[in-house]
Amino acid sequence: MKVGIWGALILLGLAQINWAQTTNTTDSADAKAAISKSSTSYSVFGARPEQEAILRSQIQLMHPEALPARVLFVPHWKYVDNARIFQLHVPAGYGSVMFTHLPSRTIFIDNDRYQGEKWLGYWMAHELGHLKANSAKESDAEKAAHELRRRLRDAGKQGLF
Ligand SMILES: [Zn+2]
Repeated sequence: MKVGIWGALILLGLAQINWAQTTNTTDSADAKAAISKSSTSYSVFGARPEQEAILRSQIQLMHPEALPARVLFVPHWKYVDNARIFQLHVPAGYGSVMFTHLPSRTIFIDNDRYQGEKWLGYWMAHELGHLKANSAKESDAEKAAHELRRRLRDAGKQGLF
């Protein structure tokens, strides 16, 4: 199977992150500071500037209980490659436009299917729902996403539904 250089690099990056986490298991103040810092910041890769601005404002408005560590906007072929690498199974009835790799708290977005602000907010709520529920089950994600979409709607900026 052709994994592709990008996929291999991502896997290496994730392995490095996991390694950093396992070597930092002491209950020291440093470790706690590192954890609290990582819970309020996340990285965005591959987004156009306006996409990143929209994403960050939507996540802020949704105020999710669990943030991703990183969000990757990728072309369709890279998305498919990574879905295969992470052995993603997409149940029927759920469009595969984003997926979350829970162990590394990484959200992948198929940027070739990007349909604008409303689309991003709707599906990001679903992925944040996976993180909040800490569950790969679609029903758990949708249940958690409901509240996040309500917050986004109440913020009055997105015009969802
Ligand atoms: Zn899902």
